[in-house]
Amino acid sequence: MTCSICGRRVTRRTALIVDEGPICRRCLHRGATAIPMYPIGYVRERLPEEAPHGSRQESVARIELLPTMARFMEGVAEEPRLTVVWALDRSPGVATVFSRGLDGKQAGIFSSRSPHRINPIAVTDVDLVRVEGTNLYVRGLDAYEGTPILDLKLDLKVAPRR
Ligand SMILES: [Zn+2]
Repeated sequence: MTCSICGRRVTRRTALIVDEGPICRRCLHRGATAIPMYPIGYVRERLPEEAPHGSRQESVARIELLPTMARFMEGVAEEPRLTVVWALDRSPGVATVFSRGLDGKQAGIFSSRSPHRINPIAVTDVDLVRVEGTNLYVRGLDAYEGTPILDLKLDLKVAPRR
């Protein structure tokens, strides 16, 4: 397959499929260099909900951080809400305009939460249920088993200010 802009030969690794046509990363990003990222952990299991009365039925997932991340976990267990940054599974490509799932409105990726993105990054706010060692049990994470976790952040929408 070849880039639909420059005509260079490309592979799935060196191009993104945009509206069915491959565009090489060199053309798409105007020569910018890739930014490497490493997983800090993985989604390991999704547990059945313990059914607290009246609350939304959302399953609990376990995020297993790498043992080397323990030193960065100061204060995490005290936070009720976290923002999880995670890597999407390799998406088949990107559509420039589509009917978004939320409301059916015509949208591009920058005004949607579509998993088919230029950079395969997802962000989800979760309830922190409990922490055991480097395992975080969270509710509301819409990621599959085995998903690489890129970062955990304090959820500023609910965090108290001093
Ligand atoms: Zn190209």
